[in-house]
Formats: sequence, C-alpha cells, structure tokens
Amino acid sequence: MKRRSLVIALASAAALFATWTPAAADYPERPITMIVPFAAGGPTDIVARIAGEYMAKSLGQAVVVENVAGAGGTTGITRASQAKPDGYVIMMGHMGTHGAAPALYPALKYDPTKDFAPIGLVAGTPILIVTRKDFPAQNLKDFVDYVKANQNKVNEAHAGVGSVSFTTCTLLQSQMGTKTARVAYRGTGPVLNDLVAGQVDFACDQIVNLVSQIQAGSIKALAIATATRSDVLKDVPTTKEAGLPEFQVSAWNAIFAPKGTPAAVVAKLNAALVAALDDENTRRRLLELGSVIPDKAGRTPEALQALVESEVARWTPVLKAAGAVAN
Ligand code: ASP
Repeated sequence: MKRRSLVIALASAAALFATWTPAAADYPERPITMIVPFAAGGPTDIVARIAGEYMAKSLGQAVVVENVAGAGGTTGITRASQAKPDGYVIMMGHMGTHGAAPALYPALKYDPTKDFAPIGLVAGTPILIVTRKDFPAQNLKDFVDYVKANQNKVNEAHAGVGSVSFTTCTLLQSQMGTKTARVAYRGTGPVLNDLVAGQVDFACDQIVNLVSQIQAGSIKALAIATATRSDVLKDVPTTKEAGLPEFQVSAWNAIFAPKGTPAAVVAKLNAALVAALDDENTRRRLLELGSVIPDKAGRTPEALQALVESEVARWTPVLKAAGAVAN
C-alpha cells in the first residue's frame, strides 16, 4: 500500500509541475489585452471595462480592452482563440459567440466547447425589446400587431449574425411569425445610437446597454424577457405580463483564454475576476446597469464550461428551427 501511495503522490506532483512554468509563476509581468469582439460602447464593451478595471488592480497590470468587431463577434473571438496561450490575450465572449455561433456559422473557425480555457462568468444580462421613442406601439401587444401588419416597412437592428441581439430577435420574430428587414451593425452601441436617432425601429438588446436611455425616455422599452422585472427598470413589464410569455431569454458575458493557457494562469485570472465581483464598487456599477452577478458557484471555470456546453446545445435546434443559418 505504501509503495502505491508513493507512486500516486509522485505522479500528481509531476502533473502539477507540468502545468507550472516560471512564466506562470510570475504572471502577469506586463499588460493584458482583453479582446472585446464588438464596437466600443456596447454591452460587451461595458461589462469588459467594468470588470477589467478591478481585475487590473487585483493583478497589478493594466487590462487593455481591444475592440475587434465583425461577423457577430466571431471575428474577434477567432483572433483571440488563436493567440499565444500565455494569459496575455484574453477575451470577453457571450451567449452569441460561445452559444449561438456554431448553429449560425457552419464553417466557424472555433468550437466554443473545446477551443478555450474558460476563466469565468462575469454578468448575466437580461434582454429587452426596445423601439425608437415614437414607434407607433405603446405596449408589446400593439407592437406585435403593428409589426405583423407592416413587416415590409419595419426594420430591426442587430450586432451581426451570431450576436445576442441577432439571436434573440431571431427567436422573437420566429415567435411573432414575422420577417422584417434586419440591419447589421458592428455592435449594439451603434445600434442604440440609431434607435435614439429614430433611424431604425426596434431591437432585442442587453439591459446594461439600455438603462440610461430608457430612463431618459430616448427609447421605448416594451418588455423584459425574464421571469421577473428588473430592480432598475421597475416599470418595464415582463414579456409574460405583456402577453408574450414564450419569449423568455437572457444573455451572459464571460471571460475566456485560449486553449492551453497554463492552469496557474487561469487560476490567477479567475481569482482576479472573483475579487472584482466581490468588490462593492464593481458590483454597484454592474447592478445599477441591470446585470445579474453570478454567485460563488457560478464563477468557476468549470461552471462556465458547463454553461457553454448547455447553451450550444440549447441554441442550435432553436436557430435551425427559425431558419437562421448564416450563408
Ligand atoms: N454584445 C454585443 C455588443 O456588445 C451586442 C450583441 O451581441 O447583440 O455590441
């Protein structure tokens, strides 16, 4: 028995040493790039900059956000997935890039379930149906009726095939039985600008991008697609209250590193993220934008891996049924 336990001890020590490298031990020794696969000012960018600010303090090195937009976020994620797995390039992915994308891009250059080292979930982001402020519908029921009767005149804005806004409004239009014009942007930051300007009619977007414009009356929020109302938008009814109970959907934003990133580096990045989500000021900033902050169990790399696998499995049949596959 003694010999067997000695062999096991030596084997586990060897395994630990294999993941330990001098670089990992001293990581980080220089600034870290966080790729945000959408235009600046949108929900992913907002969440990345809030979390990154505290992570930088915790890690003792700058976390520099680099916006690499295109193809519903898959351009930036593809680039990040091919970076050197040393912890100096990480990425903010989400329910679109790491959940819906495989169904929408048959030739996708990465597999969300295999090609990353998950770091951790940052924020759940409930989805709202929003319109330009003078859109001729005062509630969700009128909106559905109007869009059905005028679908060749109405347009929807999204952040590209594979984005959260595209994915969730694909589901909405499928449930409404409508096919309006759909206008692609490099992120829902620019989408919001055109909604406020009245250039486009409606969108499905993440709450963190919308709260201040809704509160200012610059756009109209018809419903939130979660079971309960948001504490920061108490007057916005749920889709269930507003007569479209089947439209229940929420997004999430999470940090990933390239596959092969040393375990010691993943652990340091995860610890910095957990510290950020425990920091009062960071929490306040995320919560006042309507984010849902994961609990301790929801913040582990393992929990994120499980979420990605369940989201890919969930969205593939939904999007295929809706006939939404990129060419
Ligand atoms: N998350 C994207 C952005 O930040 C929007 C989306 O996925 O719809 O612009």
